Amino acid sequence: MSSKTRPILPGATLGILGGGQLGRMFTIAARTMGYKVMVLDPDSASPAGLMADIHIQAEYTDHGALRKLGQTCAAVTTEFENVPAASLIELATTCRVSPGADAVAIVQDRSHEKTWLREHAFATAPFAVITDASGLEAAMALTGSPALLKVSRFGYDGKGQAKVSSITEARAAFQAFGGQVCVLEGFVKLDCEVSVVLARDDAGRCALFPVAENQHVNGILDVSIVPARVSDALRQQACAMARDVAEKLAYVGVMAVEFFVVGGQLLINEIAPRPHNSGHYTLDACVTDQFEQQVRVLAGLPLGDTRLLSPVAMVNILGDRWQDRSPHWETLLAHPAIKLHLYGKASARPGRKMGHFNVLDAELPAALALAEQMRDAL
Ligand code: AMP
Repeated sequence: MSSKTRPILPGATLGILGGGQLGRMFTIAARTMGYKVMVLDPDSASPAGLMADIHIQAEYTDHGALRKLGQTCAAVTTEFENVPAASLIELATTCRVSPGADAVAIVQDRSHEKTWLREHAFATAPFAVITDASGLEAAMALTGSPALLKVSRFGYDGKGQAKVSSITEARAAFQAFGGQVCVLEGFVKLDCEVSVVLARDDAGRCALFPVAENQHVNGILDVSIVPARVSDALRQQACAMARDVAEKLAYVGVMAVEFFVVGGQLLINEIAPRPHNSGHYTLDACVTDQFEQQVRVLAGLPLGDTRLLSPVAMVNILGDRWQDRSPHWETLLAHPAIKLHLYGKASARPGRKMGHFNVLDAELPAALALAEQMRDAL
């Protein structure tokens, strides 16, 4: 076995760039398995920093901080796509880093990501990259109307997006985004949305979690339903496409591929170079969860079993629920097959992801019905 793939064993320190909820759940998984965890995040109260053995409070481009991280950790990963690719390259000179800078640089920029997907013959919604307002007319002729104008960098959960129905609206939206590079995308009629979370190791072995069906509200994930209520053929096709994306990106780590289902066909919406909100169901419903899998692939351990143990519905808990009181946790916690996960965020804001819960039931319709009942009762 090469030194690259020699397993890093419990007792060693693993590092993570970013201290949000995904970093927190990685930290919990790693510590459960006996690793020490070092988190780099500029926020003194980051959810992962509060759980870590060591929190370095610094910017992601801070050379001193990156040096300390690289020297202390046997391997480093990331919990968000906007980590500067240059920081991953810098870290890779001193320790194992996954995912690699090349893959992250593609998927962190929507125009690069969509162009890469097109070049590799993956179906997407019709789109055009907009670098200048003069390109909007031809782009809209391609996408049709309505369309979505999306900023290329730093957009998430529907932020940095505008639905436009005319050239005038498209120009106004482009100007409102400060003329930064955008993607204009046809607004497609969705049958539903699904996603696949997978892990790929540096020997090219892949483990895929079951396909999730995702329902969004205002561009933010609301509920994930597993198994997805689509045909076996579509499920298999989603898995094959996700695996193909990982292979063509030469990806090492945990990643998610989000799909639109349109007229029975799969279109790739986005790739996330990290565990994903739509994979939170794995925390309670699979043999291995997506964060343990992130630890395993980072540490060069064999990938864990991704088997689904029970049908499950995952519900996101957003800050909107805190408007004049805390949510009714007692209602939720009264149910023996509901698992609550809160992220330890001090302040609740509308749209902010504060936690989630998983509802398990041998019958999926029952899990979904209870999930919806609890979401409304909170
Ligand atoms: P995004 O941040 O681009 O993943 O968008 C968030 C959500 O907005 C998606 O999960 C969809 O529900 C919706 N959405 C985004 N792009 C489109 C599109 N081109 N057509 C229809 N719905 C979309």
